[in-house]
Amino acid sequence: MAKTGFIGLGAMGQPMAANLGRQGHDLFVYDIFQHRTPPLRDLGATVAGSVAEVAEQAGVVVTMVPDSPEVEAVVLGPGGILDSGTAGQLVMDMSTIAPETTDRVAAALHEAGRAFVDAPVGRLVTHAEAGTSLFMVGAADTDLERVRPLLEAMGDTILHCGGPGAGIRSKLVNNFLVVGINQMNAEALALAQGFGLDLATILKVIGGTTASNGQLSVNWPNKVLKGDLSPGFRLALAHKDVSLAVESARKMGIPVFAGAVAREGCAMGMATDGYADNDFSGIADAVAGLANLPPPRLA
Ligand code: NAD
Repeated sequence: MAKTGFIGLGAMGQPMAANLGRQGHDLFVYDIFQHRTPPLRDLGATVAGSVAEVAEQAGVVVTMVPDSPEVEAVVLGPGGILDSGTAGQLVMDMSTIAPETTDRVAAALHEAGRAFVDAPVGRLVTHAEAGTSLFMVGAADTDLERVRPLLEAMGDTILHCGGPGAGIRSKLVNNFLVVGINQMNAEALALAQGFGLDLATILKVIGGTTASNGQLSVNWPNKVLKGDLSPGFRLALAHKDVSLAVESARKMGIPVFAGAVAREGCAMGMATDGYADNDFSGIADAVAGLANLPPPRLA
């Protein structure tokens, strides 16, 4: 089996590389913090002293570092993969970074006759440990097949999102929603506490309705995404409900930034598009319209 390089052994990289090692992949690992490497040495990995040492040895090099500057440094910087690697080598960046950096790195590698895959990671550290991560892959078909055995050793869901760059863009869409919902979750629980509700019970309520994002997986595919704007739940009623909640929060002195924005989003939809009596998922059309995009529809 060709040697696999793994650069960046932090909270995610450590368990991901460990899963590769456990499944018999011949690993060369590197992290600027050498104290991160002993667990992988114990699994049989060779610990390299630099990025260059990894790049000289490995047919595929995985990078899992914090952000765009680190990926630029590791791939394009002096002594980086581009300087030290070999023709035909494939670099798979799994970090979450700016799409423009992904494009720059992909172009530089392609120009040098190397292959590039972006495969950022969904889910949590616990999934990385269990080998049940989800990967959003941007790659040419042949390059995806080259890295598939590695991805299968580290996760259980591989989604081919398009060519190089499509993976990282999918990741940003996903995490935009994750972080936005995180804020709404925080505000909803503060509202529940302000009302003096039992947290365990309200979690059961939320878990039993579309509040825990069944909107996107249950309601939207059957409504706005197939062009059916008939209500369902009218936008005017959604506006009323979120306004009641925001008003209650105001009375209790609980800041609900995201909730207030959602209320104004409803108001915008009703005022400018006359969507008040449409299903409230129709807000997707109103937002797309503001950006001069076509209404989002599933084929
Ligand atoms: P981390 O900070 O724990 O680990 C990053 C590792 O990269 C560190 O060990 C650091 O020493 C190493 N590193 C930094 N610069 C380096 C360089 N020039 N050469 C070699 N090693 C270098 O971060 P993490 O939580 O493992 O996340 C890695 C990436 O994955 C990030 O882009 C993050 O946004 C993304 N991500 C994180 C999670 C999560 O739950 N932690 C989930 C999915 C995706």
